[in-house]
Amino acid sequence: MSRYRVRKWWKRAAVLVLIVGAVGMSAESGASNGTETYDVVIANGRVMDPESGLDAVRNVGIRSGKIAVISSGPLEGKQTIEARGLIVAPGFIDLHQHGQDAENYAVKAADGVTTALELEVGVADVDGWYREREGKALINYGASAGHISVRMAVMHDPGGLLPSGDAAHRVATTAEREEIGALLEKGLQRGALAVGLGPAYTEAATNQEILDVFRVAAKYRASCHVHIRGSGPPIEGNFSGFEEVMAASAITGAPLHIVHIQSTGGPNVTQELQMIAEARSRGMDVTTESYPYTMGMTSIQAALFDHKEEEPSTYYASLLWPATGEHLTKESFLRYRTQGGMVIVPGNTPENVHAAVVSPLTMIASDGHLANGKGHPRTAGTYALVLGRYVREEKALDLMTALKKMTLMPAQRLEMRAPMFKYKGRIRVGADADIALFDANRVIDKATYEKPGQYSEGIQFVLVNGVPVVKDGRLVDGVFPGRAARAPVSQ
Ligand SMILES: [Zn+2]
Repeated sequence: MSRYRVRKWWKRAAVLVLIVGAVGMSAESGASNGTETYDVVIANGRVMDPESGLDAVRNVGIRSGKIAVISSGPLEGKQTIEARGLIVAPGFIDLHQHGQDAENYAVKAADGVTTALELEVGVADVDGWYREREGKALINYGASAGHISVRMAVMHDPGGLLPSGDAAHRVATTAEREEIGALLEKGLQRGALAVGLGPAYTEAATNQEILDVFRVAAKYRASCHVHIRGSGPPIEGNFSGFEEVMAASAITGAPLHIVHIQSTGGPNVTQELQMIAEARSRGMDVTTESYPYTMGMTSIQAALFDHKEEEPSTYYASLLWPATGEHLTKESFLRYRTQGGMVIVPGNTPENVHAAVVSPLTMIASDGHLANGKGHPRTAGTYALVLGRYVREEKALDLMTALKKMTLMPAQRLEMRAPMFKYKGRIRVGADADIALFDANRVIDKATYEKPGQYSEGIQFVLVNGVPVVKDGRLVDGVFPGRAARAPVSQ
């Protein structure tokens, strides 16, 4: 109930109230007359809202999938979740989640994620992608119009998630570039949340082609989520892939979001964060994200592995094949490169990863992708790892700051393009009831490189649009409260 409606109610009910005497009213935020019944009440939890700074024990009443009241007085609910000793935080918004099926949504929910978005690779058929998930998703889902995906469609690339043929290796013709631009524009008109790019994966795309994609994004106020150009380990002091997209953003005005800066930044992470801070101080809309792991994961058929046939054996041994757990040799590298699949690769030093995760500039995003229980542990463990290790064990981040990186900042990244995000990433009256409840003393990741699908621990309840999807630390079966996270459809 809004404050305005509360006031009207009070006017109309004033006489009645005088007759029946005092009715409990806790108008701190929203209101309750003590007899209202909410669909769900979260009782006695420590509510933490990074936007308002609220950090106090409160009761939260939910009605019709929205937060209806936040009160220090008791509330009546059809269903009550006893949250004493638990943190009540906005559900986590993952801007970088490739796996978008039931298996992936389950591990995300168990890690406190209520909205998982495929914004880096993105999709070519925005309408079809959203249609496939309608009414079938555990958590909220959304996607960008993806330059990688669209280029693969236009150039008939045989790859899977990432290109392995012409979309990686061939300069587009003028006609193809026009078709790529038109398809991206169509995706944006159909409500794509952003534009995804990965010049590292589409290495034959020229600077001109990338700039033109930014021009399309700017027209729709869409942020560009970019895996910056560069194959092989980044060289200290060289960051032309980074500068390519900073320039494109400055020239076109399209907001820029650099994905997983802790991996693509390599030895330049601190320097690149500094450059982002400087660009922001000059009014540029540039943001970034990181995941808290030193290893990365990508497709073995990606262009990153072109010209890797004659490396020392230590190079191949540094690659891990998650499907079997084996470290590669030259022979198995070449065999798997023909076969295709995901490979775990050395990413960055622990010091650089740490610097990226704790920077006030970075959001937390997982880059997750799990298939049949195989993949990178970041898919299932990213958020609990930050809360358990960075916040509790190392005290490298305070809890509110960590939550802000997981909730408010990602919501704010998207809300100019998709106003529905003004109602996510916050615990306030009127916000969507996407909520994560966890035990700050116990929360921890359990996913490992060997067992990447293991659910995080200590995340006790998760609500998506007011519907519990995790209860008492266990996933709830047979509920599909996830909704499309989408920008307004303009045509
Ligand atoms: Zn990437």
